[in-house]
Amino acid sequence: MLTPTVMPADCRKCPLHAGRTNIVTFRGQYDRPDVLFVGEAPGATEDEQGVPFVGRSGQLLDRWIAEMGVTRYLVSNICRCRPPNNRPPTREEAATCGAHLAHLILQARPRQIVALGRTSERWLLENGYAPLFIYHPSYYLRGYRKWEPDVAALGELLRTAPPLTEWEPKPVAAAPKKRGRGPKKKDAEAS
Ligand code: SF4
Repeated sequence: MLTPTVMPADCRKCPLHAGRTNIVTFRGQYDRPDVLFVGEAPGATEDEQGVPFVGRSGQLLDRWIAEMGVTRYLVSNICRCRPPNNRPPTREEAATCGAHLAHLILQARPRQIVALGRTSERWLLENGYAPLFIYHPSYYLRGYRKWEPDVAALGELLRTAPPLTEWEPKPVAAAPKKRGRGPKKKDAEAS
């Protein structure tokens, strides 16, 4: 069961510590943000700067945030250290570092949580959260899909969806088949 906790500043609880330059935590509004955006793990630019979503994906995410008119937001990841070659975190790495994200969610109490991509959506659902969903910005940057309609749909959901009232993680026995709320498509997606 996931127990929210704060990781030490020099955390070495999973193998990802070996390749990191900086631990990457969060950026934005910590206290009661309207939206918490959750990615999977830092990339090269984030690892260098120690700040999440500051590379090309982060620039696109910031554009989405402006388009949706969101002013109080928080941005973080499941894992705080960069995986080798930007691979997705393993389930074990996500389970270990996710305790820190669970602590962040409990403390910040966001009005909504948005999963950026399937990896973070799966982790959130498996731990009992109810995220909205949009594909990871990198998916759109690779040209697989146009982001404009999905961001418009997400903005509408953020305006109309009931706000979250619980922020405690809840154990889910098996990987849920349902998906988070948001744009749906049956195509395969890496992240
Ligand atoms: S990814 Fe998380 S759990 Fe793993 S070493 Fe980094 S801070 Fe610790």
